[in-house]
Amino acid sequence: MNQVGEDSGSPGAALKRASDALSNAGHIVCFSGAGISAESGIATYRDPLTGIWAPHDPQTMETASAFRKNPQLVWGWYLWRRQQVANAQPNAAHLAIGQLATIGRKVSVITQNVDDLHERAGSADVMHLHGSLSTPKCFACHRPGTLPQHQMLLPADGALVEPPRCGRCSGKLRPNVVWYGEDLPSDVWKSAVALVKSCEVLISVGTSGIVTPAADIPWLALSSGATVIHVNTEDVSTAQPNELMLIGKATEVLPKLLALVPRAEQPQ
Ligand code: NAD
Ligand code: ZN
Repeated sequence: MNQVGEDSGSPGAALKRASDALSNAGHIVCFSGAGISAESGIATYRDPLTGIWAPHDPQTMETASAFRKNPQLVWGWYLWRRQQVANAQPNAAHLAIGQLATIGRKVSVITQNVDDLHERAGSADVMHLHGSLSTPKCFACHRPGTLPQHQMLLPADGALVEPPRCGRCSGKLRPNVVWYGEDLPSDVWKSAVALVKSCEVLISVGTSGIVTPAADIPWLALSSGATVIHVNTEDVSTAQPNELMLIGKATEVLPKLLALVPRAEQPQ
């Protein structure tokens, strides 16, 4: 295992090994989790909730049965999260990944996050394994829905409201995200696996590796022969030979790492 600042040989040796791996890679996958957005002010599920959400565990609100039991609470939770994202800005880690695509290598971004901060930081074709907060879909007929802006905002007094109805079948609208107990969209998952299996380096940022099957992504990359660079405030590595662990905040580690990667020579 190699850690920034903890390498006994030379400090920063892991950073150097990571930048060397990136410099030699033709295809890089960036795989992100809630930790990358933490410094934009979007709570991970390990952070304590405040206000009316304080008594609730997010994971118990993110299921179809919770929505059936208390649609107002679950719909309100997502309106609140949407508002949090709308008020947030991409941070230096999102921006560094956005800029990575400009150095002449193929870069794919796969995220577990339901926010749009990668897109707003300039990354194109971001693959959202767990869906997105930006649109609703029907709980009954599963068709995507559209809503006027005011219906996508938490009421100013914070009151919980009934979810709006589907224009096609009058079913309740729910967020277009993947809840616990639900399958990932199979086309998205298949495309993500194909990208991961074909990359030379995977950078895994701000993910605890607990939620499956997304948690298998770094392992899939390792077993396909890629180098995996973890960027996390905690040690999340599994001590494989082609694994590098860069411990620190994503906003500090990623810009430092990516600044060391030279632009690839373009074929004449
Ligand atoms: P997680 O909450 O389980 O783990 C977050 C990880 O990020 C931890 O390993 C933590 O050590 C690390 N971390 C925290 N701050 C960091 C920082 N500044 N820099 C680097 N690393 C940092 O998140 P997960 O692994 O993504 O899985 C949980 C699920 O939560 C996912 O399904 C995701 O969809 C959902 N989620 C998404 C958002 C979002 O869209 N922004 C927010 C909360 C939860
Ligand atoms: Zn419907």
